[in-house]
Amino acid sequence: MRKDDCIFCKIANGEIPSKTLYEDERFRVILDLGPAARGHALVIPREHASDLYELPEETASQVLVLAKKIAVRMADKLHCDGLNLIQNNGEAAGQTVPHFHLHMIPRYLKDGQKIGWVPGKPTQEELEAVRKQITE
Ligand code: 5GP
Ligand code: ZN
Repeated sequence: MRKDDCIFCKIANGEIPSKTLYEDERFRVILDLGPAARGHALVIPREHASDLYELPEETASQVLVLAKKIAVRMADKLHCDGLNLIQNNGEAAGQTVPHFHLHMIPRYLKDGQKIGWVPGKPTQEELEAVRKQITE
């Protein structure tokens, strides 16, 4: 279902123009307007789902298959040296557009971008506590 006030619903369904790399009946892949690197693309399902939690399993299972196809094409055509796949869920995770999307960021050895985190140093006990919390 389309959500009336959602910009990515409008883009995915062609109501707002975008630089489209690929489209089919379920997805549109577009260039990001604020790219982290040349060729930064977004895989956007046409159906509205705010985030991964809301995304139907069937759509979730198709996203990575499509991303793989786009990735191969990016490597071939852009001659990038690497690729980050990033998918933000919720404000705390940096999500700014509440319609599920997968970032595909081609990387170049000298692109100067920093995408990462500061690694923590948990003890074995802390790792075990979180393992238990998630699995039990
Ligand atoms: P998020 O922060 O939600 O993971 O990513 C949202 C992304 O959408 C950002 O990288 C931003 O540059 C991009 N974006 C926001 N509005 C538009 C738009 O209207 N068109 C396109 N092509 N990208 C957009
Ligand atoms: Zn939407």
